[in-house]
Amino acid sequence: MANITTDITVIGSGPAGLTAAVYAVRAGLNTHVIAGYAWGGELMKTGRVDNFPGFPDGIQGPELMQRMRDQVVNQGAVLHEDEVETLTPQGEGKPLMIQTMNGDTITARAVILTTGSEAKWLGIPNEERLRVAGVSACATCDGMFFRGKDVIVVGGGDTAMEETLHLAHLAKHVTVVHRRDALRATAAMITRVQAEPNVSFALGRTPVQVEGDAHVTGLTVTTPDGRTETMPTDGVFVAIGHLPAVHLVRDFVPLSEYGTVERLAGTTQTIIPGLFVAGDVWDHHYRQAITAAGDGCRAAMDAERWLGTARFGEAERYPDYPTDDEEDMTASTMTNAAVVAATRE
Ligand SMILES: Cc1cc2nc3c(=O)[nH]c(=O)nc-3n(C[C@H](O)[C@H](O)[C@H](O)COP(=O)(O)OP(=O)(O)OC[C@H]3O[C@@H](n4cnc5c(N)ncnc54)[C@H](O)[C@@H]3O)c2cc1C
Repeated sequence: MANITTDITVIGSGPAGLTAAVYAVRAGLNTHVIAGYAWGGELMKTGRVDNFPGFPDGIQGPELMQRMRDQVVNQGAVLHEDEVETLTPQGEGKPLMIQTMNGDTITARAVILTTGSEAKWLGIPNEERLRVAGVSACATCDGMFFRGKDVIVVGGGDTAMEETLHLAHLAKHVTVVHRRDALRATAAMITRVQAEPNVSFALGRTPVQVEGDAHVTGLTVTTPDGRTETMPTDGVFVAIGHLPAVHLVRDFVPLSEYGTVERLAGTTQTIIPGLFVAGDVWDHHYRQAITAAGDGCRAAMDAERWLGTARFGEAERYPDYPTDDEEDMTASTMTNAAVVAATRE
């Protein structure tokens, strides 16, 4: 049970969080990362990642995350094997307060929230067991493994149509399975999908079990007339939505129609001073490791600049930070790291 004071606390240790931490610590800021019980984030659940730059032969997801984690620690950030229980803004000019599950209290002048988002799964037998053996929730990530094969996309919204379009250019055949007898997607998306010669629709069918021992061989569904049938397939792409992890901030930050955290236009900052957000908890559209990492970089740079100009009350001032007079002289032209360095000289 410790009381810790930080310049920047990063919540989450996926690609967004760990990249933010590298940039923050390299800006000379006292940086702590609360990794979360699922440290490493979504890439810990996958096998080979072939689309992260710098790895010509691909890299296993967990190994990529271990490398990012090592880089963060080697650069001097403090990584906590802990989960944030509450995050509390205290108002303009005051730091944010974090309470962790292990009982630590962290005072953070700036917080970068990178809690990610989780794909919704069907919850049917064999779905979880076959997740790296033919069941996926990301056509952009895994579509290449199904070149020339038959795949099923489960879902009826725009995301399912996007996954279908991506797969239609790789797979031999794509079948869209949807439990209702009409798709929910916009008419324009449906028209585009219907124009693909190798896509067919199986509507009014509810998946009940994924089939296969070592890898996926089929999907069993109930039919509109109440029978069950097994549709042979090499892969099942589940595209029924995502659940952004917004539980820490949903009471004081607006959410988008996709359930992701809203930011102020043109920045990674939220409406709460000192609270920045990056990665899939904000981005409902791209949801890739590289976009999350890039966004984490932006958030750290935004937070660094914000810290350079923020006015904190006397009680929350850090010994390393400039007095009011010094701040007035420097804040508008210098970054926070430069201000700290100048004050230390
Ligand atoms: C099976 C699978 C395969 C994928 N394959 C690829 C691929 O090949 N290429 C690719 O580019 N992308 C891939 N993706 C997508 C990619 O993993 C995500 O886009 C990326 O991980 C998002 O990064 P993030 O940092 O925003 O969030 P995440 O990786 O989701 O990380 C969120 C972090 O926040 C933490 N957290 C949550 N709540 C708390 C809390 N209260 N306190 C502290 N920490 C908390 C979690 O523990 C986790 O560490 C794949 C995704 C999945 C599910």
